Amino acid sequence: MKILVINCGSSSLKYQLFDMDNEEVLVKGLVERIGIDGSRLKQEKGDDEYIIEEDMKDHTEAVKHVFDAITDKENGVISDLSEIDAVGHRFVHGGEKITKSVVIDDEVKEAVKEYSKFAPLHNPANMMGLEACEKLLPNVKNVAVFDTAFHQSMPEENFLYGIDYKYYEDQAVRKYGFHGTSHDFITQKTAKVLEKDQKDLNMISCHLGNGSSICAVKEGKSFDTTMGLTPLEGLVMGTRSGDLDPTVVTFLMNEYGYDTKKMDNVLNKESGVLGVSGVSSDFRDLENAANDGNKRADIALKMFANRAKRYVAGYMAEIGKTDAIVFTGGIGENSATMRADIMKGFEQFGIKIDPEKNNVRGGCHLISTDDSKVKVFVIATNEELMIARDTKKLV
Ligand code: ADP
Repeated sequence: MKILVINCGSSSLKYQLFDMDNEEVLVKGLVERIGIDGSRLKQEKGDDEYIIEEDMKDHTEAVKHVFDAITDKENGVISDLSEIDAVGHRFVHGGEKITKSVVIDDEVKEAVKEYSKFAPLHNPANMMGLEACEKLLPNVKNVAVFDTAFHQSMPEENFLYGIDYKYYEDQAVRKYGFHGTSHDFITQKTAKVLEKDQKDLNMISCHLGNGSSICAVKEGKSFDTTMGLTPLEGLVMGTRSGDLDPTVVTFLMNEYGYDTKKMDNVLNKESGVLGVSGVSSDFRDLENAANDGNKRADIALKMFANRAKRYVAGYMAEIGKTDAIVFTGGIGENSATMRADIMKGFEQFGIKIDPEKNNVRGGCHLISTDDSKVKVFVIATNEELMIARDTKKLV
């Protein structure tokens, strides 16, 4: 069975074609600058690269080029589009209506439209990818896998904000959580590694990348998570502020005359470790700058570690007995220093990282000492594979 996985952003589209008989990636690619001059498709098949540079005015044109690329005689991997059995789409916000992956029908589309108010950049872009596939592959089923779905198991005391209940009732203002596909993948994988039934697994999943979130998993399900109504809440991120006193927002809007759009931009694009350091949103640059004596880069890294530490410890207390703490995402998988910094201080609870074992990247590795009270792992996430698996299950 061949499944195409599509992840659409407002001007980009990532894709992977899987052979689900052995979960092998046959080909993958990225289209950038959709609707902007200089559109470009880059496809990778093993070590071979295939590039198309041609203006693509919208997502339909981008999907058309993806189909051309994967069926290209020399650079493609299938001879005809009829070989694609289903398409799995990454969707961002499914609100309270979507609690698991679903075959897309009118009801799902309605939910996506309804919750666009909380994901104005992502949900409409996801829809554009879907509509392009419906137009160009009319006989193939489309499945939606939502970032928010995994977190729909959170209890009310964890998803409500401390504001008048009427805002939840009238406007559905609450915590939804994101990165659900990754936290779900990591939870399933950890259960396998520990040879435990998922429903008996309590763990902390730390997805640390450009966007970062931590999830408290209780009895195999999301119990609490750091991202909120939108992906802005929680950890200090690459360019997002994470938690702050809401008065900071109203104060800055008053002082600088910012409108909501500008304030949104400040909090989402100009804050986080980039804003604090003034150096970069990339942790490799920050670590280099801090090593060269840049004080603000050093402070940004410490802020990131301390916020993460606070959530890991708090969530452990929330879920009770903890079987594992897992690091994933670009930073979680690659930065031994950040993992060590976050876990520093947990020795007092008998949780210890082994510096030698911690010297790893990606894959699946135990990095805690033999006598550590909680096992600590590095596990590479794979959201695309998770989407392909769910799609296969549903069609
Ligand atoms: P996204 O949230 O966009 O999916 P990723 O999970 O791919 O992001 O993470 C990207 C981030 O991972 C980069 O911005 C960088 O900060 C971090 N990163 C990648 N490699 C390393 C490394 N070797 N050391 C430290 N940080 C790294």
